[in-house]
Amino acid sequence: VLIHVAPLTNGAGKISGAVGVLQDITDIKNLEVWRRDLVANVSHELRTPLTSIRGFIEAILDGTISDPEAQRHYLKVIHQETVRLTRLIRELLDLAQMEAGKIVWELHPIEVSELVSRVLFKLGPQLEQHQISVKVDISQSLPLMLANEDRMEQVLTNLVENAIRYSPPGKTVTVKAGSDNGLVQIEVSDEGPGIPEEDLPYIWDRFHRVEKSRSRSLGGTGLGLAIVKQIVEAHGGKVGVHSQPGQGSTFFFSIPAVPAEN
Ligand code: ADP
Repeated sequence: VLIHVAPLTNGAGKISGAVGVLQDITDIKNLEVWRRDLVANVSHELRTPLTSIRGFIEAILDGTISDPEAQRHYLKVIHQETVRLTRLIRELLDLAQMEAGKIVWELHPIEVSELVSRVLFKLGPQLEQHQISVKVDISQSLPLMLANEDRMEQVLTNLVENAIRYSPPGKTVTVKAGSDNGLVQIEVSDEGPGIPEEDLPYIWDRFHRVEKSRSRSLGGTGLGLAIVKQIVEAHGGKVGVHSQPGQGSTFFFSIPAVPAEN
C-alpha cells in the first residue's frame, strides 16, 4: 500500500489536521515484478545461444576444433542457433506489438479445411523428416471462421509444429475441426510424451518449458504457445489443452464463426 499524506491548514495557516490517501499498488508492483522477470528471461534466452555460438567460433578459430568434419558439425550447430535466435527476436517483437494492441487485423471468412490443408502442406517436409503421419477429421458443413488468415495460419502452424517436434517418429498427429454454439473449434492431438499436470497451467506463459534443454535442442523458443493464446484471445476465442504424461496431448482453440444468414 502506498500512503500519501497532506496537512490541512485552517484559515490562520495553522495545521488543523491531515488527509491521507491509501493506494493499493498491488497491480503496479505485480507489473513491475512481471517486467523485471521478463527482462531477466529475455536476457537469459539471448545470452545462452550467444555464449555457445561464441564458444564454438573461438574453438574453431584457435584450433581447438581443427578436424574439418568436427568443424562442419559445429558450424551447423552455430547456424541452427542463429536461425533460432532470429525467430526468437521476431516472436518477441510480435508478442510485444500484440500486447501493446498495436496491430489491427483484418478479419475475413476463412474456410477451415483450406487453412488446414495449407498448413499441412507447408509442414510436409517437417512431417516427413520426423516420420509423422497426419489424420484430418473435419466435420461436414462447418461454418466459416471470422478471423485473420495469416494469424490463423500462425496459430495452427505453432500447434502442429509442436505436435510434430515433441512426438517420437512413427506416431500420428490428428487435426480435427467442428463447431458448437457459434464457435469453430480446431483440435491438434499427438501421441507424444504428454505434459505433467503441474505444468499445464503454465505452458501458455512465455519461456515456460517442461524440459528446457529438450525444447531448445528441438529449436523451440518457448514463445509458441504464448503467441497462440494472444492471437486466439484477440479474436474473442479461447485456447485449451488436455494432456497426461504418456498419453499424448490435445491442444484446441475456438474462434467465432461467421454468423449464419437467415
Ligand atoms: P517451445 O518453443 O519450447 O515449444 P511453446 O510455447 O510452443 O514453446 O511450448 C511450451 C512448452 O510446452 C514446450 O517447451 C513443451 O515443454 C510443452 N509442449 C508444447 N506442446 C507440446 C506437445 N505437443 N507435447 C508435449 N509438450 C508440449
